[in-house]
Amino acid sequence: MSGLAISTSGLVHIYRSQGHDVAALSGIGITVRPGEFVGLLGPSGAGKSTLLQLCGGLLTPSAGRLQIGEHNLTTMTEPELDRMRARDVGIVLQGAGRNLIPYLSPVDNVRYAQRAASRDRSLPAPEDVLDLVGLTDHARTPLPSLTPGQIQLCAVAVGIATFPGLLLADEPTSQLDHRARDEVLAAISTINTSTGMTVLLVTHDPDVAAVLPRTVTIRDGRIASEGRSGEEFAVVATDGSLPLPPHVAELLPPGTLLRVTTTEAGDVRLSPVQQEGQS
Ligand code: ADP
Ligand code: MG
Repeated sequence: MSGLAISTSGLVHIYRSQGHDVAALSGIGITVRPGEFVGLLGPSGAGKSTLLQLCGGLLTPSAGRLQIGEHNLTTMTEPELDRMRARDVGIVLQGAGRNLIPYLSPVDNVRYAQRAASRDRSLPAPEDVLDLVGLTDHARTPLPSLTPGQIQLCAVAVGIATFPGLLLADEPTSQLDHRARDEVLAAISTINTSTGMTVLLVTHDPDVAAVLPRTVTIRDGRIASEGRSGEEFAVVATDGSLPLPPHVAELLPPGTLLRVTTTEAGDVRLSPVQQEGQS
C-alpha cells in the first residue's frame, strides 16, 4: 500500500436545494503529495466537510478537476466510485457513531468494513487494524462499554479497514477530552508514518493544528492560507489571485488600489494608493 496524491483545480461544489443554490466551494486548488498529513481548517460553513466528501467520492463536483491517485473523480461512473470507496479511500465522518454499527464489536465492525473489498485483493487481518489504533484489548468489547475516545479510535479503524491509500477524517478529535483527543491524533499520526497513508484531517482545534506539519485554511469556499510548522502563509492561486490574510484585509476596504512593486531582494510590496475623495 502506498499513499495517494490529491490534486484539485478550480473545484466548485454547489448544493441545489428547494430552488436556491448554495456555492459551498468556489474554486479550490490543492495539491497533496502521497503520504502527506494535512490539516484542513476554517470557520464553520467554510466548506471543509464538502471538500472531504468530494475527495471521498460521496459528492460529485459541480465543476473543476479532482484527482485522487489515478482516479479522475469528475468523470468516474457510479460503479467505479463504489470500487474506489471500498478499497482506496477511507472516510471517518463527523460524529464517531455514524461510522459504526452499534451492535457489532470493534473487530466485527472492521470485518464489515472490509466486506466490499475482499473479492479484489488480500486485506489486513482485522486484529492488525485494531492493533494499529491501540484497540487490541478491546477487539470484542461491546461498543456501549467503550469510552468516547475508544469509540473514535474504532471509527478510525473502520476508516482504514482496507488499508486505503487515503484517509479522510472529519473532526475526529472534536467532543473528546484532551487525553482522548491526543490518543486519537497519535493513532492517526502512527497510521500516517508507519503505512505512508495520505491523511486529510478536518479540525477546528488550534492545539491539533499546531502539531500538524501542514495546514490548509479555507474560508467562504476558497483557500485562505496555508500553515507550515506553525507559520501562516498566503497562497497564490492557479489564476494568480492572492487572498489577503484577514488582518491585512481589514486595513484595506474593498476597492482599495494597491501599487505592487518588487524589491531587488525579491520581496513584493503592496502600497495602498490614496485616491481622490478619501481622507
Ligand atoms: P464546514 O464543514 O466547513 O462547516 P460545510 O462543507 O458543511 O462546511 O458547508 C459549506 C456550506 O454549504 C455551508 O454554507 C452549508 O450551509 C452548505 N451546505 C452544506 N451541506 C449542505 C446541504 N446538504 N444542502 C445545502 N447546503 C449545504
Ligand atoms: Mg463540517
